Amino acid sequence: MSNYKHILLAVDFYDNCSVVTARAKDLALKYQAKLSIIHVIDNLPLTDTGYGAEIPFNIDFTTELMANAKKQLAKLGEELAIKEDQQCLEMGSPKTEIIRVAEENKVDLIVVGSHGRHGLALLLGSTANGVLHHANCDVLAVRLQEN
Ligand code: AMP
Repeated sequence: MSNYKHILLAVDFYDNCSVVTARAKDLALKYQAKLSIIHVIDNLPLTDTGYGAEIPFNIDFTTELMANAKKQLAKLGEELAIKEDQQCLEMGSPKTEIIRVAEENKVDLIVVGSHGRHGLALLLGSTANGVLHHANCDVLAVRLQEN
């Protein structure tokens, strides 16, 4: 088995993400690897007026979203003893950003959560699925309990 040197933990901050976090932490300890975390603020249709209705989002909303996400990331970083420059907050498509950051930082293992999806989400493909199929490095999909 490879000796992982840099592990990237992708977190969405849902309640069940602690199991994914715990697994990434264990692996980083086991391999004495560097551990980084990433959260991606998903693209929002802030400027899309094609729906013909007022969209109740504005730039302040985005700023607030970024600030809250940054706080959550910093809290998790503190819990895991991860330095600020290894706490990555991005905006865009989670799958694309996770893969980009992993490649740019020579990550050799990405850890994500995975659950069985149904309906539209399955058709579109989940983040875990997207990362699994497009990343150049190993990907560990940690099974999440269905609620
Ligand atoms: P999903 O496929 O969207 O159900 O999410 C599966 C896993 O992908 C989550 O448990 C996270 O590890 C990761 N993930 C999903 N969304 C994000 C996000 N916005 N930022 C970082 N990681 C994410």
